[in-house]
Amino acid sequence: MTDIKKRAQALNPQIVEWRRHFHQNPETGLDTPLTEAFIVERLREMGIDEIRKGVGRHGVTALIRGEKPGKVLGIRADIDALPVMEDTGLPFAATNNRMHACGHDAHVAILLGTAKILVENRKKLPGTIKLIFQPSEETSEGAPAMIRDGVMENPAMDAIIGLHTGNLWKGLSSGMVGYRYGVLMAATDWFTVTFEGKGGHGATPHLTVDPIAMACQAFSAIQMIVSRETNPLSPAVITVGKICGGTALNVIAPTCTISGTIRSLDPETRAMLSERLRAVCDGIARSMRGRADVQMTFGTPALINDREITDRLRKAAVDILGEEAVAEVPEPTMGGEDMAYFLEKVPGSFFFLPSMYGGGKDYPHHHPKFDLDEEVFWIGSAVMAHFAMTWQ
Ligand SMILES: [Zn+2]
Ligand SMILES: [Zn+2]
Repeated sequence: MTDIKKRAQALNPQIVEWRRHFHQNPETGLDTPLTEAFIVERLREMGIDEIRKGVGRHGVTALIRGEKPGKVLGIRADIDALPVMEDTGLPFAATNNRMHACGHDAHVAILLGTAKILVENRKKLPGTIKLIFQPSEETSEGAPAMIRDGVMENPAMDAIIGLHTGNLWKGLSSGMVGYRYGVLMAATDWFTVTFEGKGGHGATPHLTVDPIAMACQAFSAIQMIVSRETNPLSPAVITVGKICGGTALNVIAPTCTISGTIRSLDPETRAMLSERLRAVCDGIARSMRGRADVQMTFGTPALINDREITDRLRKAAVDILGEEAVAEVPEPTMGGEDMAYFLEKVPGSFFFLPSMYGGGKDYPHHHPKFDLDEEVFWIGSAVMAHFAMTWQ
C-alpha cells in the first residue's frame, strides 16, 4: 500500500500534465476523437495492448491482465467537456468555445495514472482490469452508447468503480475522499407538454380556448404532485424551466408549451411522478376544453452504490489516507450522473474526490471560471489502484 501511495504521489506531476492537455483541448458529447487518440497513445506507451477504440463512437476500453487469478473490475472515467466559453485565465485555458468545466479532464488523467500504477504491479494484480473512458456524460448519452457497443461483455465485469472531482458535495475538503452507501445521485427525466387550444382575439376569450391559461393551472398543479402525493421521505423535484406561448399581447395563442426536469431517488417515486404529471396535465387541458400532448424522456436512473463494494472502497481509501480523511457523503444530490447506467448492471461504487481551493475561491461546476485543486489528483489514482489490488 505504501508503495502505491508513494508511486501515485510521484506520478502527480504527470497526471497534472495530462489533465492540462485535456483541459486545453476540450471536446464535447460523443465527438471526442482527439481525446480518444491521446488516451490510446498513452495506454500504448504503458505497454497496454488490448485496447478497443470507437466504443460509443469515441470511447475507449482497455484491459490490464493481472498475473494472479481473479475477477474482472471495471474502472470508469468520463472524458467529455461542455459548450461553455472558458473564463479562468489559466495558462492552459481552452480557446475553442468548449470547456472542461466539470472536472472530467482530471477524471481521464487520474484513470491514466491508475492504469500506470496497475501495469507496474501486474505481477501482484489479481484478475483483470477493464479501463473505461466514456464520452458524453453531460448529455447522458455516453454510457448507453458504450453499453450498446458491448462494453459490458468480453469480459463481463464483476464490479465497477469511478469517481467525481470538484465541489459537488459540501462539507468535505480537498485531500479527502467521500463515499456513500446506497443512493448517491438522482434519476433525471425530462418532459415537454404542449397545451392545445383555439387561438383568437384577446378581447373575445369566450370564442377561444386559451392554452396559456391551461399552462398556468398546470404549473401550480404539478407542484402539488410533489407536495401532496409524494412520500415526504422520498425526495423529489419537478422544475418547469421553460414556458413558451403567445406572440402578441392582444392575441390568444393556439398553443403553449411547458418543459422541465423531474428528479427522484427511488424507482417507485420516479414512476409515480411521470405518470401523475401526464394525468394532471391531461386532466387540466380537458377540463379547460383543450388537450395536452405530454412527451416524457427518461434519462439516467438513480445512482446506487453497492454496500459491499463501497465498504471495500472505503477501506482502500482509509489505507491510503487514514480514517480522518475519509468521510461518508452526508446526503445524496439531486444531480444526475450516467455512471448510474453501469451501476444498474454491475455492483459497484462511485465516490467523490473533493478538489477545491476553499476560502471562497471556488466556482460551481459548469461555471466559466470552474477550476480544480491539482494537488490531490494522485489520491484518486492511489485509491482506485489500491482498491483494484485488494478488493477481491
Ligand atoms: Zn457536469
Ligand atoms: Zn461531471
